Amino acid sequence: MEMESKITLFYGTFVDLPRVEYGWKHELSIRHGALWVSSSTGRITGSDWSIANESDLQSLIKKNGWHGIQIVRAREEQNEFFFPGFIDTHIHAPQYPNSGLFGSSTLLDWLATYTFPLESALSDTALAHTTYNTVISRTLANGTTCASYYATIHVQSTNLLASLCHSRGQRALIGRVCMDNPSFCPEYYRDESAQDSITKSRETIAHIHALESNVKEEERLVKPILTPRFAPTCSTHALSELGRLAKEYTPPLHIQTHISENLSELDLVKSLFPDHPSYAAVYDACALLTPRTILAHAVHLTPSEKKLIASRKTKISHCPSSNSALGSGLAPICDLLDRGITVGLGTDVSGGYSPSILEAVRQACLVSRLLRHTKRPAKASSEESTAIAGPKPGSDDTEGEMDGSEVLSVEEALYLATRGGAAVVDLPNDLGGFEDGMFWDVQLIRLGPGIPSESDWAKDGARAVDSSSDSAVDIFGWETWSEKVHKWVWTGNDRNVRRVWVRGVLVHELDDGCTGERSLFGLRSVQDLARWTVGALGVAALGLILGKRFLCE
Ligand SMILES: [Zn+2]
Repeated sequence: MEMESKITLFYGTFVDLPRVEYGWKHELSIRHGALWVSSSTGRITGSDWSIANESDLQSLIKKNGWHGIQIVRAREEQNEFFFPGFIDTHIHAPQYPNSGLFGSSTLLDWLATYTFPLESALSDTALAHTTYNTVISRTLANGTTCASYYATIHVQSTNLLASLCHSRGQRALIGRVCMDNPSFCPEYYRDESAQDSITKSRETIAHIHALESNVKEEERLVKPILTPRFAPTCSTHALSELGRLAKEYTPPLHIQTHISENLSELDLVKSLFPDHPSYAAVYDACALLTPRTILAHAVHLTPSEKKLIASRKTKISHCPSSNSALGSGLAPICDLLDRGITVGLGTDVSGGYSPSILEAVRQACLVSRLLRHTKRPAKASSEESTAIAGPKPGSDDTEGEMDGSEVLSVEEALYLATRGGAAVVDLPNDLGGFEDGMFWDVQLIRLGPGIPSESDWAKDGARAVDSSSDSAVDIFGWETWSEKVHKWVWTGNDRNVRRVWVRGVLVHELDDGCTGERSLFGLRSVQDLARWTVGALGVAALGLILGKRFLCE
C-alpha cells in the first residue's frame, strides 16, 4: 500500500448547508460519521457517513492502516457539532476599537466624526499592531475563518495586517484603502493623488504576494484586494487606474468597495458623477464591476443597477447589523438572490457593532421580516422607472404588499454566512462545506450538556441553570438536531465556538476546564505575547491621538 500522508480524523455530527439547485429550499444537512483531512494540504481527503460508533471508528482506522493519527471528536453528550467556518465578506479592521460607538449618526457624518480620525491614527504601527491582533482574535473566536478586510491608507499598517493574518492563520483578503478625492476626503487622511493610490496599492500587493511566493493563487491564505473606499472618495482617474490594475494579474485581482448604502450618499454620487446614469454605472465605467468584485450594502439599488450587477456576475456583501445601526435601510436580499446575484454576509465593523457573523445571520433574518412593512421590490423584468436618487413615490418600487418570499429563513441566512460567502470571495469549491477536496476551515460548536433532569433539579435547584456554564444555549433534551441549530443561531455566542481550524490548522481554542480560556484571546506562544506587548504601546497613543483629533474639530 502506498504511504498515506499524515491525516487528522474528525468524528461526530457534521452540520452544513448543501448547495441546491436554483429555486430549491435550503435545508440543513445533519450527518453523523467520520471525515479526514490531509495535514499537508489542509483539505478534506475522505469521509464515511456509515461510521456510527467507536468500534466502527477503530475498524476504519485499522482498514486504512492509519497509525498515531490525531482524532478530534464532536461529543454527542455535549451537543457538539462541526460547522463550516463563517466568512465575513466585509469588515474594516482599523475601525474595531470604535465597535459600539456610533451614537445617532448616519453614514456621512459617521465617517467624518468617528471613522476617519480613528483610521488616520493607525499610521502608528504600534496602535495598528494592537488593533489588528485584537480584531483577528475576536473574529476567530466568533468562528470567522475567512475575512475580507479593509485596512487604512497606510502601506506599513496594511502590510502588518496581512502579515498578522498570515502568522495567526486566518484566511483573508487584505485591502489598502484608496481615497484621493480632496473635495470629500479630509486633508489629514487621503492619498496625495490617483498615482499615489496606485503606487501604494502596488506596494501592498507585492508584500502580500511575497508572504507565500511559491504557492498557487487558490492555495494562498492571504490575498490582496483592491479597495477604492467608495465612489465619492475617489477621483475617476483613480477608479479607472484601479480597474486597469486588477486586470494586470492572472487571475484578475479581487476588488471591494461600497455601493448604495444611504440616501444622502446617493445624492452625493449623483452630484459628483452627473454624467453617469447610476451609482453602479460609475463603477462599471471604470471596469470595477467584475466577478471578483464585492459590493457592500446594496440597500437602495435600482432595478437597472441590479440587472447590471447580475450581468457582470459581481458579488454583494449584505451587512444588516450596520444597515440598521446607521439607519441606512433594509436591503431586499431575496430580491437580489432571485435575480441570480451571489450574496454573502458582512459584519461591516464598526458601522456594524458586532464582529460576529452569527449576529449578522440573526439580523439578516430579522431585517428580512420587516421588509413587508416597507415596499415591494420591482419585478426583475419590470422596466427601469427609478432614478439614482431612489424610487419615485408611487412607482412600482414603493407600493404593494410583500408575499413572504422576501423573508430569509435561518437556513438561507446560514447558507449566506458559509457557501454564499465562499462564492463571494471566489472560493465556492474550496470553502463552506464538507465535500472532498474542500479546505478544513471549520468551527467546533458546543451547546453544552443540557439542562439537568428533574431529579438533579430536586437535589440541587441552584445548579439547574448554571450561570458559570460556557453556553447560553439551554438544551432540554427533546430538541431535534435542526432545533438545536436554530437555538444556537438565536441564543448562541462566541462561548459556543470551542475550536476553530483554518486550512486544517487549529487557530483558536477555548479550554475545556473551568478556568475559562486557555490563554488571553488564544495567544499561543511567547511570540504572540511579545507581539501584544509591542502593540500595547499603541494603546496610550490611541487616547492621545484621538483626543487631540476631536479637540481640533
Ligand atoms: Zn464598510
